[in-house]
Amino acid sequence: MGGKDNLSCSMIIQSATYVISSPDYTQCPKADRPEYAFIGRSNVGKSSVINMLCNNQKLAKTSSAPGKTQLINHFEIKSLPSPRGEGGEKRNAIAKAKDQWDAWYLVDLPGYGFAKVSQTARRRWEQMIENYLRKRENLVNVFILIDSRHSPQKLDLDFVNQLGEWGVPFCLVFTKADKETQKEVSKNVKAFLDAMRKTWQFLPRHFVTSAEKKMGREKMLEFIEACNSEATKAENE
Ligand code: GDP
Repeated sequence: MGGKDNLSCSMIIQSATYVISSPDYTQCPKADRPEYAFIGRSNVGKSSVINMLCNNQKLAKTSSAPGKTQLINHFEIKSLPSPRGEGGEKRNAIAKAKDQWDAWYLVDLPGYGFAKVSQTARRRWEQMIENYLRKRENLVNVFILIDSRHSPQKLDLDFVNQLGEWGVPFCLVFTKADKETQKEVSKNVKAFLDAMRKTWQFLPRHFVTSAEKKMGREKMLEFIEACNSEATKAENE
């Protein structure tokens, strides 16, 4: 499966570079390109998914270094669209002009669910996350990571519902799918979506991933590519 994904036609990541860690959304880099944020409980596999997407095993380590865990971590990604259809022609044309790579931000947000943080630290986190998610103008989508080994957890459902109330667009990313049988993973994914159905009219997009097996990489990059091209179109209109 991994091999197939490696040879696939998804977007090509040319570079992924750590930019800055910010304590507040007002101090984030200029909002001049599409941005995608990643969030989930600690240990859900967020760094692993980010590294898998960027083909760089050391990338997200920067943001989990001591002192950076409560900050908004920006990475600049430069990519080429996949070779299919319209994007393919564009890719051939721009491959020659390397200054024309698509540029977007990937943001690693501090996770929730730390057992040992103080009330004060938790409140600071909540305020920072709420401000960032509701006010960051170029935020296109939030990927909420959920461990596929567990049945639906209240903490994750609460966070998802909160984003819904705020009207922040998001997708679900079920992680570590290689750690359980496919049957168990499907059961947990279905249970989570069923739990959402109780209050949601439409369900968000979801991806089942394994950083270990590079599973789900292509679909996530395709989604990002489609959002990037929508964002560019909207900008040119
Ligand atoms: P984070 O705290 O959310 O950034 O989580 P990490 O990416 O550091 O992952 C936490 C642990 O889960 C590490 O020991 C990873 O090696 C492991 N892990 C993460 N993703 C996967 C996966 O897809 N498959 C397996 N088998 N282990 C994973």
